Amino acid sequence: MKEPDRKVLEAKRARYADIEITVDAATLSAEDRAVLAPLVKAGAVMTRLFWKQASAEGLEVAARLNARADAAGKRLADYVDLNAGPWDRLDDFEPFYGTRAKPAGATFYPEDLTPAEFEAWLAAHPGDRPAFESPVTVIRRDGERLVAVPYAVEYRDDLVQAARFLREAAARTRDPMLAGYLESRALAFTSNDYYPSDLDWMGLGTAPADKASPIEVVIGPYEVYEDRLMNLKAAFESFVTVKDAAESRKLAVVEGLLDELEASLPIDDRHKNFSRGKSSPIAVVEVVYAAGDTAAGTQTTAFNLPNDERVRAARGSKKVLLKNVSQAKFARSLVPIAKLLLQPALQDQVSFDAFFNFVLLHEVSHGLGPGIIARPDGTSTTVNLALREAYSGIEECKADVLGVLNSLILVRKGVLPASVGRTMEATYLAGLFRTIRFGIGEAHGIANMVQFNWLRKAGAVTHDAARGTFGIDSAKFEPAMRDLARALLTVQAEGDYEGAKALLKTYGAMPDEVVAALQRVRAVPVDIRPIYTLGRALLAE
Ligand SMILES: [Zn+2]
Repeated sequence: MKEPDRKVLEAKRARYADIEITVDAATLSAEDRAVLAPLVKAGAVMTRLFWKQASAEGLEVAARLNARADAAGKRLADYVDLNAGPWDRLDDFEPFYGTRAKPAGATFYPEDLTPAEFEAWLAAHPGDRPAFESPVTVIRRDGERLVAVPYAVEYRDDLVQAARFLREAAARTRDPMLAGYLESRALAFTSNDYYPSDLDWMGLGTAPADKASPIEVVIGPYEVYEDRLMNLKAAFESFVTVKDAAESRKLAVVEGLLDELEASLPIDDRHKNFSRGKSSPIAVVEVVYAAGDTAAGTQTTAFNLPNDERVRAARGSKKVLLKNVSQAKFARSLVPIAKLLLQPALQDQVSFDAFFNFVLLHEVSHGLGPGIIARPDGTSTTVNLALREAYSGIEECKADVLGVLNSLILVRKGVLPASVGRTMEATYLAGLFRTIRFGIGEAHGIANMVQFNWLRKAGAVTHDAARGTFGIDSAKFEPAMRDLARALLTVQAEGDYEGAKALLKTYGAMPDEVVAALQRVRAVPVDIRPIYTLGRALLAE
């Protein structure tokens, strides 16, 4: 296979900063440890399964490279491991070892299958549609026919092994909700019916205090991004985590204040919406071990599951924030960006506490503001339908701006410490550059671009052209944020599609000073490569 130039490979690898991700073992009971060990082992099975899903040759390539003793072989083995195969996940799956393109359908479909052939088969065999479009089947050729094979059959041996680990963990926990989920998920691995266990997952964390386990785990086939052919097939992954008790207590307080936060929104009272209810519960956890799909390439700091709309209709969904992963990204990317781009006086005002509370209040703020909107003719629609393709950018922008404003409200109420208020502006400013860096072609990127340009125009963000650094005019900051919140919320409340497009167009372009700023931070890692210290220790037990 064609090997990359050493310099090229090293530059690719330097985009990821290695960092330890762990939880304080002293906070875990003997029972917690005993439950975590088999869960981590089940997670390792998810990694093997994901590699089998991602490509036909990944595992074999890795085995060959791991057997090599030379430095070039070791470098390659490491980067193949990081990408779960010889294709670069930060460079649109370009092959970095060898030349073969990664099949768009991974191994979920026959490699030569086209979407047209898939659709033609379903048109001729309409009864096959449920099985073919199921997220938990693979499509294979059987002579002239196409057939859907359940994951439970295709991956039987691995899934039977994973189920055994889950049952082992279930037998060791005193928490009936956790045991129930692990038992039903183990059953799903062999029945291929994930619905009952998805329902059970929503009940995790609700056991009575004397039986409650801090362990939060999710394991199974979830996201469909690895299937770039049809976006139908779910990839295996796992998060083995421990709940953060202090954050959970804080969230409970915030949930009790939702009506107050809604009342304080800077819009006309007639647009305020007190009937949205608790859209989705939020949990804050520390990751012990992440595996499979989610461990490959860039690392997630939050997820919202399950994806099954039937479960969402019956029980809602749960947003889980990964605190120690956020902390790692803060240290390895936000802090270095702040050092390069913020004025010296602001650099030591960047704090993880402000960053994480902002992230938390961003999520909470998605549940505030207009949802269902009444039309003049008496019918109704929803904000996302009314704003069409402009919705995501506007909604992410709203969640960011309200995230800051609500953090400041909670500081004034004494729910969050004063230090969060003192460090919010600088931390938020550095965060704008961190997100814009990922590109303004997607919702979060353009949302941050809009905020930057709005604040710059209002004079709330200042620029030192000689040094290329940015500052904040504190007197103008909060009023400008409130004005932007009012503009965004009004567009949403009125379902004003043209207004939404105009806002994104007027404020969404990248000015030269930001282009230059991004150039200055190009050497800052774009992501982290976690080293799960405790997870690895448990795996070896
Ligand atoms: Zn968001």
